Amino acid sequence: MTAQFPFDNTYARLPERFFTRTAPTPVAAPRLIRVNTPLARQLGLDPDWLASAEGVEVLSGRRVPEGAEPIAMAYAGHQFGGFSPQLGDGRAILLGEVIDQGGARRDIQLKGAGPTPFSRRGDGRAALGPVLREYIVSEAMAALGVPTTRALAAVTTGERVRRETILPGAVLTRVAASHIRVGTFEFFARHGDVEGVRLLADFVIARHYPDAAHAERPYRALLGAVIGAQARLIAQWMHLGFIHGVMNTDNMSVSGETIDYGPCAFLDRYDPEAAFSAIDTQGRYAYRNQPAIGQWNLTRLAECLLSLLSDDEDAAVAEAMEALGGYASFFENAYEAGLRRKLGLFTEREGDVELGSDLLGAMAVNGADFTLTFRRLSDAVSGPNGDEGVRALFADSSAFDGWAARWRQRLGQEPMDAAARRAAMRSVNPAFIPRNHRVEAVIQAAVEADDFGPFEEMLTVLAHPFEDQPAFAYYADPPQDSERVYQTFCGT
Ligand code: AMP
Ligand code: MG
Repeated sequence: MTAQFPFDNTYARLPERFFTRTAPTPVAAPRLIRVNTPLARQLGLDPDWLASAEGVEVLSGRRVPEGAEPIAMAYAGHQFGGFSPQLGDGRAILLGEVIDQGGARRDIQLKGAGPTPFSRRGDGRAALGPVLREYIVSEAMAALGVPTTRALAAVTTGERVRRETILPGAVLTRVAASHIRVGTFEFFARHGDVEGVRLLADFVIARHYPDAAHAERPYRALLGAVIGAQARLIAQWMHLGFIHGVMNTDNMSVSGETIDYGPCAFLDRYDPEAAFSAIDTQGRYAYRNQPAIGQWNLTRLAECLLSLLSDDEDAAVAEAMEALGGYASFFENAYEAGLRRKLGLFTEREGDVELGSDLLGAMAVNGADFTLTFRRLSDAVSGPNGDEGVRALFADSSAFDGWAARWRQRLGQEPMDAAARRAAMRSVNPAFIPRNHRVEAVIQAAVEADDFGPFEEMLTVLAHPFEDQPAFAYYADPPQDSERVYQTFCGT
C-alpha cells in the first residue's frame, strides 16, 4: 500500500529536546466509530481508506503509517495558577503534519494512543466519553465559526480504562494548526534555554504568523499577534456562552485555536458565574473570568519571550507590558462588535454596549436561556409579534418588555431593512449548540448500550447550527430541571 498520509513533518526536525520519539502502543481490538469525511477530504486524505481495516489500524495506533514520525511533544504549564515544569503529551502522539487543500499545515495527532515518557502516573489512554465529547464540541465549534482543533476520526480500542469506574477506551484523531501551547514556551523558558525559546518562536512565526518575520521587531510582533488571536477567540467564546473549563497555559494554543476540550460546557440559562468543571472548585475558569484568564496566560507567554524582546531587561519588560496592554482593547473591540451583531446593530452608536449588558443583566436575574434569547431576538427583530417567544424565557417577562422598548428605539436608527437584519442576526445567533444534557445522553447511549446513533444524529444537527431544523427542534430545547447538568468531568 502506498503512503496514505502525505506527511511533511517540520516539528520533528527541531532539536531532540523538543519532544521524545514514541510510537503508539497497539490496542487489542480497534473498531471504527466514525471518520469525518469532509475534513478528511480537506486534508487531502481518502475517507474510504481511513474507514478501511488498514485505516482503522492507523487511527487506533496499531500501525504507524508511512512517513509518520511519531513524537510526544514536551511542554510545561501553569495549572490553576501553579507551575508544573514537566507536562508534555502524556497520552497524545503526533503522527506528523500534512498540508491541506487550502495550503495550511495541519498536525495529525492520536489522543489516547498509549503511554509516553511524559505520562507520569497516567495510563496514556482516553475513555470513550471524553473522546465523544471532544469530537462533538470541537466539530460544533468549527461549524459555529470558532477557530478550533478538529476531530478527524474516533475509534474504540476494545480495551478498558480505569477511571472512577471501568470504561471503554477510545482514540481520537485530532487535527490542529499546531499543538504548540503557551506551556511549550514555558518549558524552555523555565529551563533557562534561551536558544530553545528562540527556535520555538522562529518556528511559530514561520508557521502561524509569517507577517511577523517582516516586522521591525519580529518577536514583539509575534507576541502581539498571539495576544490578538487569543483576545478574538475568547470574545467568540463569550458570544456563544462557551466555557472552556480548564484554561491552563498548557491548554492555550499559540495559533489561536480552541484546544483540549475537557470539562467544557455551553451555558444554558445565562449565569456569568457558571463554572461546570468538577475540578474547578474555586471557579477560576468560570464563564465571566475567561477574558481575564486569557490575559493572565498571555502574561506568562510574554515572560517567556522577554529574553528575545531586548537584551536590556527594562526595555524587554516595557515592550512586553506594551504588548499586553493591547489585550484589553483587542478583546473589547471584538467583544463589542460581536455583541452588536447579536443584537442586530450594524452601525455603532453610543450606548450600544450598555444596551447589550443591560439585556445580559436582565437575563441573569431572570434565568433566561442564553442561546434561545438571542435566537428568538432574531425573530422579534421584525416587530413586537415575535416578542412572546423571548418574554417566555424570562422568569419575569416584564423585565424584557422595558428593554425591548429601548432596543426597538435603537433599531429605528439602523439603515438595514428588517428582513436583512433578521437574516444577519440568524447567521450569528445559533439555534443549536451542544447542550450539556444532550452530550451526556449521547455519551450514555454509546458507553452503556454501544449505541452510536445519537452521536451521529447530534453531529448532523450541529453541523448546521444556524439553520432551523424543524425535525430536530428539540435539540434547541434547554434541559428540564431533571436533565440539568451541574458538573462536568475531564475523565482523564
Ligand atoms: P489535560 O487535562 O488533558 O489537558 O492534561 C494535562 C496533562 O496530563 C497533559 O500533560 C496530559 O498529557 C496529561 N494526561 C492527562 N490524562 C492522561 C492519561 N490518561 N495518561 C497520561 N497522561 C495524561
Ligand atoms: Mg491539556
